[in-house]
Amino acid sequence: MIFFKNTNYTVVVLLISLFICDFYFTPIPAGIFLFLIACWFLITTLGSFNIKWNYHLKAFNGHKNNAKKQIALTFDDGPNEKFTQQVLDLLKKHQATATFFCIGKNIEKHPELVKSILKDGHVIGNHTYSHSNFFGFYNAKKVIIELEKTNALVKSQTHKELNYFRPPFGVTNPAISKAIKHTKHTVFGWNIRSYDTVLKDDKKITSRILKRISPGAIILLHDTHDRIIPVLEQLLIFLQENNYQTVSLETLSDIKAYA
Ligand SMILES: [Zn+2]
Repeated sequence: MIFFKNTNYTVVVLLISLFICDFYFTPIPAGIFLFLIACWFLITTLGSFNIKWNYHLKAFNGHKNNAKKQIALTFDDGPNEKFTQQVLDLLKKHQATATFFCIGKNIEKHPELVKSILKDGHVIGNHTYSHSNFFGFYNAKKVIIELEKTNALVKSQTHKELNYFRPPFGVTNPAISKAIKHTKHTVFGWNIRSYDTVLKDDKKITSRILKRISPGAIILLHDTHDRIIPVLEQLLIFLQENNYQTVSLETLSDIKAYA
């Protein structure tokens, strides 16, 4: 938020200074004004799409200086009828703990998977109710409805009040920032994006992740496609061989998952 405000403040001050200069001293080419506005637009767009920048709001995107060699695996967009149980079985086989950012409408369809996730000791977070492609265009009121609807659903099924939230696509903006202040969710991003829903070859996905592994990392994965099984298997073997602990975000961040 500070970064967004600072950028706006800087651009406004520069624009006013240029106007004053243009009016009282020497003509300023229109291109200079346009360039400044284009820079503001570019920075704001990049900041909105890169949750790691903390441009609009403060998110937890990994634990730097993590001495315990901990890694947090996170699975978005489930629970999924076909893949979530397979992911849970693999995690159990390797004694790994993870965090699942679930979509409300999927929780509604598969309450039994939500129970299995919790029973196995994993953590659940809010990933909106609809995961709409237009979520980034929602006003604060609509964002609040999405978050509260999913929280109420999980509470009715598990008696847990979700504290974690991850915005769809990692997109943030002033409306989401305003909504979070109201709902008081803690926002979680990542620092390793696997692109597992985009890349079609599981070996490419795994090698992309392994190149970026470092203590305290949060890896973004999805329990919604068939590549996740070989990717997760290779990843868990690598982590075990290299003495990494696979932990939930609650362990990594020391922030309570449920209010
Ligand atoms: Zn998502």
